[in-house]
Amino acid sequence: MLTTRPRGTNDVLPEEAFRWQYVEGVFRRLCQDYGFAEIRTPIFEHTELFERGVGEITDIVAKEMYNFFDRSNRKLTLRPEGTAAVVRAYLESGLKSGPHPVKLYYLGPMFRYDRPQAGRYRQFHQGGVEVFGTDDPEADTEVIALAVDFYRRLGLQNFELHLNSIGCKVCRPVLKENLSSFFKIRQKELCPNCQERLEYNPLRILDCKEPKDQEIAKGAPDSLSCLCPSCIAHFEAVLGYLEVLKIPYLIDKQLVRGLDYYTRTTFEIMVADTWAQSSVGGGGRYDDLVAALGGPPTPSIGFAVGLERVLLTMNKQNTPFPAPKNLDVFIVEADKEASRAALELLFFVRAQGLSADKDFLGRSLKAQMKYAAKKKARFVAILGKEEINRQVVSLKDLASGEQKEIFPAEIKEEIGKYKKA
Ligand code: AMP
Repeated sequence: MLTTRPRGTNDVLPEEAFRWQYVEGVFRRLCQDYGFAEIRTPIFEHTELFERGVGEITDIVAKEMYNFFDRSNRKLTLRPEGTAAVVRAYLESGLKSGPHPVKLYYLGPMFRYDRPQAGRYRQFHQGGVEVFGTDDPEADTEVIALAVDFYRRLGLQNFELHLNSIGCKVCRPVLKENLSSFFKIRQKELCPNCQERLEYNPLRILDCKEPKDQEIAKGAPDSLSCLCPSCIAHFEAVLGYLEVLKIPYLIDKQLVRGLDYYTRTTFEIMVADTWAQSSVGGGGRYDDLVAALGGPPTPSIGFAVGLERVLLTMNKQNTPFPAPKNLDVFIVEADKEASRAALELLFFVRAQGLSADKDFLGRSLKAQMKYAAKKKARFVAILGKEEINRQVVSLKDLASGEQKEIFPAEIKEEIGKYKKA
């Protein structure tokens, strides 16, 4: 146990960490390019927030939350998703009274007690965006376009944008009613979960992963045919804008998503032919959530991407990553007398903005050179009595094998030449 990580969690080891940094960097840059500002909320919140926000009868709240009591008997939960907490922070802070729309993004770990498998973990990471305070279909397009742009910037192949509208307070009851009548006829054939869903939220049956239920659901009433005129106009406007931006989409009339707060537009990005968990991100409009959590009516829309799944897909598709940044220079002590000067040189070089390291185990000269190569240093700067007397260092380019003596003050310029190349 002591050396085993909890089930459903992952360590990001150094060789993987640079890929994470790259993907997170692309996400941050993208959000900034689209005018979103970062928000960081706590990893845990009051349980009630998710019960009310995500919906008590969703799988997430009913079965998957990490709930605990703190030492003062407060009921808390490790966040299973980002939106409810961002809405809470928006309402609690001055953001709700500032200029709108408010455009926020976040990155961080989420926790769900799910059945672990490839692409499904108990601690996973999401990047997400939320736009508060607009019901303009252009805002839907903005969020969908950002999602698509993310996968494009990363170079992901074969992804598809699936899109649907599940209506609003006015027309969703019609859809629910139609679905109820449809599934009631075959109630006994549904899985026990869906028999329960039939009572509370028949929409969620469409989301069931059981093959038998999926087969039954194929003939279910179609959400688009139940929409009220204003939801139809909204959906058509979103499709029109996507066409203006030349973003291909597939209409998926059964796309409802696993959280209760969605209204109108729902979307998911799927990668074909990779593995069972083909959804790499999804989102939608949630026009009633802010009010449900005690705020003023605030139409909003958001999206979240699963970073593990994106990285798994990139690895599977052999998507090129930029080369990791290696060490610029490794300081080698040719003899013991040079140790003080080597330490000074190490910090001098770092102060020049270069990345630098040295040996801390008293290795021989040969072993230091080997270690420098293992650390993938581009240069070694060798210092011995000889060099100290003449106030120079021997700089060796480990890529070309070329070696020359220079003054320490010239190191930055010398190394700078290869950095520019
Ligand atoms: P959701 O918050 O359920 O709408 O999920 C948004 C995205 O998060 C999904 O498309 C997945 O990419 C990712 N995701 C959701 N649950 C998990 C999980 N248990 N493990 C890994 N990724 C997940």
